Amino acid sequence: MILVTGGLGYIGSHCVKQLKKQGEEVIILDNLEFGHLGAGSGAKTYIGDIRDTDITRKIFKENDIEAVLHFAAYTSVGESVQNPQRYYKQNVAKTIALMEVMNEFDCKMMIFSSTAATFGEPKFVPIDESHPQNPKNPYGASKLMVERIMKDYESAYGLKSIALRYFNASGADPEGDIGEDHTPETHLIPIIIQQALGQRDKITVFGDDYDTPDGTCIRDYIHVNDLAKAHLLALKALRNGHATDFYNMGNQTGFSVLEIIKAVEEIAGVKINYEIGPRRAGDPAKLIATSDKIEKELGYKADFPKVTDTIATAWNWHKKHPHGYEDKY
Ligand code: UDP
Repeated sequence: MILVTGGLGYIGSHCVKQLKKQGEEVIILDNLEFGHLGAGSGAKTYIGDIRDTDITRKIFKENDIEAVLHFAAYTSVGESVQNPQRYYKQNVAKTIALMEVMNEFDCKMMIFSSTAATFGEPKFVPIDESHPQNPKNPYGASKLMVERIMKDYESAYGLKSIALRYFNASGADPEGDIGEDHTPETHLIPIIIQQALGQRDKITVFGDDYDTPDGTCIRDYIHVNDLAKAHLLALKALRNGHATDFYNMGNQTGFSVLEIIKAVEEIAGVKINYEIGPRRAGDPAKLIATSDKIEKELGYKADFPKVTDTIATAWNWHKKHPHGYEDKY
């Protein structure tokens, strides 16, 4: 049995769907802060918080949990700068509470959602696993702290974890039944799509004075189903005795904010109304990853290497579900 924390959230739900497709038995723990009941692909679900050790102990007592896929976290760079306490509490303290119960029940495998933000301002691109980690914002710092905890817990308790460092998770399952639905939405692609659908008057580009060809920030967008695929490979690796490890997840191609706006315009067939605003605190100019390590070691290969295909799946989801899961109104 696999426990998926945050399994009703954006990336977690896509992972749950792929796990179930592979015939895995899945249990979800989600506090519904960002999750949606409609996103669980029919998996058995416990509603509660990872910090609540009464509920995590109950789950471990009632089910034979072999591994935990830990998605439940806060993920907004800008907010983490304004409210670091919220990020260290959610992403570090609550993860420690979860891992404490894993230790109690002798659960020895975890897959952890880490991030490009652990690297900070790149010294070189594409960023590989040898790149120094020097986070620029509390979000990245909170995830890096857990990476350190993973190493120490392996040495002391034999709990083996794999961290997948997502660059920019995006897109939606092509079948169109699950997708990205955050309230409030802070991520670029869904925000642009909301403008294309007339749900926003305009969007703001956060800064056009970066040291990049068009002055806007460059990011490496990776499809959420490719991330799910990487989780399945990481799970297989842990089952085969793989030690604690860290993998960068990107497509080795960067797109500026303006290029993403243009791509959405082409796919949606509408003009996007945008304005240039000030920089967002905590944003590095350029983040591009290489996934060579996971390709070589775990046999990963992206199904959605082209950003336009990824945006098309996001557009498909948002067009079909203009108000997301319609459970927050
Ligand atoms: N961005 C923007 N306007 C928005 C939202 C995001 O210009 O309304 C930019 C943001 O500054 C970053 C890029 O788009 O350079 C991707 O941001 P997102 O929040 O989607 O992901 P992050 O890079 O923070 O993980």
